[in-house]
Amino acid sequence: MKIANMNWMQVEAYLEKDDRVIVPLGSTEQHAYLSLSTDNILSEKIATDAAEPLGIPVFPVQAYGITPSFMAYPGTVTLRMATFLAVVQDILTSLKQTGFRRIMLLNGHGGNIPAGNAALEWMGDHPECSVIVHNWWMAPKTMAKVKEIDPIASHASWMENFPWTRLEGVSLPSHQKPMVDLDQLRRLSPEKARTLLEDGNYGGLYQRSDDDMNLIWQTALDEVRELLNGNWDDLSK
Ligand SMILES: [Zn+2]
Repeated sequence: MKIANMNWMQVEAYLEKDDRVIVPLGSTEQHAYLSLSTDNILSEKIATDAAEPLGIPVFPVQAYGITPSFMAYPGTVTLRMATFLAVVQDILTSLKQTGFRRIMLLNGHGGNIPAGNAALEWMGDHPECSVIVHNWWMAPKTMAKVKEIDPIASHASWMENFPWTRLEGVSLPSHQKPMVDLDQLRRLSPEKARTLLEDGNYGGLYQRSDDDMNLIWQTALDEVRELLNGNWDDLSK
């Protein structure tokens, strides 16, 4: 359940019987023809849909992440590493102070992967808490499903094109873009990265069928629920 649909008394009542919570992590950045909020929409919706039958609260997405390479594309906002990691740790500390103990950071953006180290560092100082940093698109079952459907999949390609991330009235190219050289991309300034990437898709088709996308969605939800219902830090199970 979204925190937006709860008041503090309801959260307090929830904490008497459970201590799990999800905070989605996203990024506001170019996604070629898709919404600039693609990573926010996906991480927040996966969190909300996965948590629904379990009654676990879902906080609003942290909608700004680490994305320096896309700064030549209008509509992109990046946080410095230190800022982002401090925000993540402040969120964890706040959740702990108000009673949560098992916290999932459900991340939808590759640039935010350092959140995993920030969480490990934070757990060293807060050993009574357990944090799962779940990078949903690269989790084993979800990534296997993506590869099974179409191995050429990447940032801003079909694999992020769901009915809730595509934009009305925007027509998409029908060709399969060749995969960009990721090693080369990592060596480039933002301006040169834009020259290399052109529309921003890293490679692959721009859209696949809603049936394909539903298979990926269901796999991603199952994978999140399995973690939420798993052992967390309980070694006796
Ligand atoms: Zn994305």
